[in-house]
Amino acid sequence: MVPGSSSIDDVESRVSVSDYGIAAENVEYSNMPFRKLGKTSNTAVHELLECPVCMNMMYPPILQCPNGHTVCSKCKSKVRFCPICRHELGNIRCLALEKVAESLELPCVYQILGCQEIFPYHNRLRHEQNCKFHPFTCPYAGADCPVTGQIKYLVEHLKNDHNVDMQNGCTFNHRYVKSDPQEVENATWMLTVFNCFGHQFCLHFEAFNLGMSPVYMAFLRFMGDEHNAKKFCYSLEVGGYGRKLTWQGIPRSIRDSHKAVRDSLDGLIIQRNMALFLSGGDRKELKLKVGGRIWKGNLE
Ligand SMILES: [Zn+2]
Ligand SMILES: [Zn+2]
Ligand SMILES: [Zn+2]
Ligand SMILES: [Zn+2]
Repeated sequence: MVPGSSSIDDVESRVSVSDYGIAAENVEYSNMPFRKLGKTSNTAVHELLECPVCMNMMYPPILQCPNGHTVCSKCKSKVRFCPICRHELGNIRCLALEKVAESLELPCVYQILGCQEIFPYHNRLRHEQNCKFHPFTCPYAGADCPVTGQIKYLVEHLKNDHNVDMQNGCTFNHRYVKSDPQEVENATWMLTVFNCFGHQFCLHFEAFNLGMSPVYMAFLRFMGDEHNAKKFCYSLEVGGYGRKLTWQGIPRSIRDSHKAVRDSLDGLIIQRNMALFLSGGDRKELKLKVGGRIWKGNLE
């Protein structure tokens, strides 16, 4: 009885194992075409929505040539002929594909970095620009550095790969020296980073021509998103010989390129003549001491 029942048990367990096996296989088989179909149609839609010129996803308005080949609106403004059939493009909208695009719901492109959000096709771009998982670009301005990542990673990267000067504290005094200040064309000084209030702030100093006049400019960028940058204020000042220039502003997020900040003149601007005057001496050398402070809250 014992051996018999045990043998039945054996058989039963063997059967159930193979049952599971079959069941598992069945699940696979019954799901596969479904999953495959879903995947293929999704991929196909994505391929349909990929611009053949820039390879980016197309957003309405989507345009097409008389033969039905599509192109994104950005590329449409740059090319006259269809990239596929060389026919003149004209101004034909592809409303059907625009409708398909509008009906799609897609996960945020930073899903792989932890974002759980899903958006209608149209809103996704705007979210992705402000997504907290959107990696930041290295704020180093001397050369176009392609490194991207979260702030913690970029702080280490600035220290290790750019030898950036890191300082603690919310007040600073920084000296900028240049032996040949006549050469003002797009000079960029070493970046200085201040650790304060648990955040990092990048102090930039640059020389460029503002129209016809050579100027120096100092400004602060915040290592983080704009809504956090707005919680802070900063002041910069430079002076000597009874003169003083001051600037109060809100640090810009490093989401804005240093060039964008520079071009919007959102910082302390010093005309070269004034800079050389404040440098003292024979005007042969730039020697500016830029003082500054960062605080939480509103402008004073
Ligand atoms: Zn394109
Ligand atoms: Zn075509
Ligand atoms: Zn996101
Ligand atoms: Zn870098």
